[in-house]
Amino acid sequence: MLSNHVSSSATPYRGRFAPSPTGPLHFGSLVSALASYLDAKQQQGSWIIRIEDVDGTRCNARFAEQIIDTLNSYGLHSDEPIRVQSQHHNLYEQQLSKLKQQQIVFPCNCTRQSLAKHNGSHPNKCQSNLDNPHSWRLQTSPVIYEYQDRIQGRLVFSDDLKNNCPVLKRKDGFFSYQLAVVVDDHLQNISHLVRGADLIETTAQQLHLYHLLGWTAPNLCHIPLITNHQGDKISKQNHAKPIENNHLPTLLRALHYLKIDLISPTSITEALSLAIEAWDPSKLQGIKDLPLEEQDLHFI
Ligand SMILES: [Zn+2]
Repeated sequence: MLSNHVSSSATPYRGRFAPSPTGPLHFGSLVSALASYLDAKQQQGSWIIRIEDVDGTRCNARFAEQIIDTLNSYGLHSDEPIRVQSQHHNLYEQQLSKLKQQQIVFPCNCTRQSLAKHNGSHPNKCQSNLDNPHSWRLQTSPVIYEYQDRIQGRLVFSDDLKNNCPVLKRKDGFFSYQLAVVVDDHLQNISHLVRGADLIETTAQQLHLYHLLGWTAPNLCHIPLITNHQGDKISKQNHAKPIENNHLPTLLRALHYLKIDLISPTSITEALSLAIEAWDPSKLQGIKDLPLEEQDLHFI
């Protein structure tokens, strides 16, 4: 069964950038934020910031404030009040209930040790005891999703849903990123996602959740990742440094990785408006990674 639930309709463009406040904004995140912003603004769309703090064990409100300050200092302002995921647990619970009614989620109290026998993936059933703390997992599915990514080309997720049962709500009561991101993007009427290629691997599960909840998925586009010399994505886990606020040279270097090279703009405002005109995602086609150039190694 082949399914393609990606929208191509002419709905108003609504894009978003959704950082997790697990640390200050780093250079790789600035590049991602810019890509989503430029794409939205070139199409006269709205651009919204959302704080993805659904994982309460890793996130910190102080970092959320810092990230928003940094984005604002680069002229990246949310067109609507900033949504904070941790304030919407009830909405995720409602959608999980729908899936429970469809009997396509099941309780699980497997331990990490017991799952190690299955290489960490979960079999499509579980000997759970509901009296004990348990997570909720989504059943596997034979559906194969595909879509046309503006940068990555045609993507087909042939085995992504076959071999695992993702957790939608954890034993500790926190909802998973997968469920929260789909619910939020739908409820905020997000029409286009422009995000890092590391999230390609989450796409099949998200398209599946859209399908199960009866919703239309946004248009998806994945930009290549900024990587270090080892070829790893630069990330907070890899100790990428916080970027300084309101620093035109940093903005110009970030735009450079999006294949936008501006000649001597005098301000961040001017650079952003020139970049909106110059943005052309097709220039990133066929590029897998964007290794940091020598002069930018101070960002890690
Ligand atoms: Zn289990």
